[in-house]
Amino acid sequence: MDVESVKCKCCGLKEECTKGYISQVKFNFEDTWLCGLCSEAVHEELRRGPSVCDLKGAMRAHMSFCQQTRVSPAMGVADGVRQMLRRRSGEIKFD
Ligand SMILES: [Zn+2]
Repeated sequence: MDVESVKCKCCGLKEECTKGYISQVKFNFEDTWLCGLCSEAVHEELRRGPSVCDLKGAMRAHMSFCQQTRVSPAMGVADGVRQMLRRRSGEIKFD
C-alpha cells in the first residue's frame, strides 16, 4: 500500500497513513494534517456553537488546548482530549 508518515500539526503525533487518506484530511483542514483525535476535537469545537464559527477558529481553539495539555506532564494530549470530549457530552463520571 502507498503509505506515508505524517505528523499532526496540533499534538505532534506521527501516523502512517495512505496517501489518499492524508490528502482527504488535508482537504478537510485547509492543507493541514491532523491526527484522528485532533480532527475529532476540532469537529467538536465546531459543534459547540457560536463562539467558534469557522474551521480556522476551531483549529486555533483546539491547538491552544493541545498546547495547554502539553505543558502539563500529568496529562497526555490524548487523555486531555478524551476528557474534554467526555465532559462536553455530559458523560463524565467521578469515581
Ligand atoms: Zn493530533
